Amino acid sequence: MISHICVNCGVSFAIPNELDQKLRENRSSFYCPIGHPQSYTKSTLQIARENWTQELDKLKEDKLKLEVYRDSINVEYDALQKRNKKLEARLQKLIKNK
Ligand SMILES: [Zn+2]
Repeated sequence: MISHICVNCGVSFAIPNELDQKLRENRSSFYCPIGHPQSYTKSTLQIARENWTQELDKLKEDKLKLEVYRDSINVEYDALQKRNKKLEARLQKLIKNK
């Protein structure tokens, strides 16, 4: 059984799982025990698809952030490598001139 609370009067009621599933898939109207109309606005598949799309968008955004971060690290690494080579060259020069 799936529990529901009427959006109009707040009465709680339950319907069998299979019926709930059909109502979700068909987006058919149903009624609370007092008679207020209820309905699912999205099917289970639509909800799953939307969640999946949101998750995919978030993963794409995270991937982009990581690529930007990786690029900035590579730039910093290259700068450090150049600085290291210059320092190494200066050190070699100092050793030769001693
Ligand atoms: Zn109601």
